[in-house]
Amino acid sequence: MNKKRGRTSLSQEKNQGENQEELSSSSDISDTEQASAKRSHVRKEPNQNWFKIYPWLKKEVEEDKIILFCSLCRERNGKTVFAVGTKKYRLESIKNHVKTAEHNIHATQIILDCRNYK
Ligand SMILES: [Zn+2]
Repeated sequence: MNKKRGRTSLSQEKNQGENQEELSSSSDISDTEQASAKRSHVRKEPNQNWFKIYPWLKKEVEEDKIILFCSLCRERNGKTVFAVGTKKYRLESIKNHVKTAEHNIHATQIILDCRNYK
């Protein structure tokens, strides 16, 4: 009995059906940033206009790399990528950050704080 597997298998590597999903490295924090897996243009440095549009957007330099972060969220020890700081300069990410619940809570808290001062 020598049943070899020598048959010309029709379905030889027909389709490697296993679509390995990208394991998003580096962040176990689920920010909306990874929602769009599209490769959009990552800039080498942040656009200066972004700082005008988003007053809470700040930058710091670490090892010759510019890190963008949200001053509101960082001040309040947020957990989003912008609270921590990111080296990806994408307007899309910033826009996504605006939509995060965390940022909104912080933003409204600031507004309330301001009102209390008056
Ligand atoms: Zn924020």
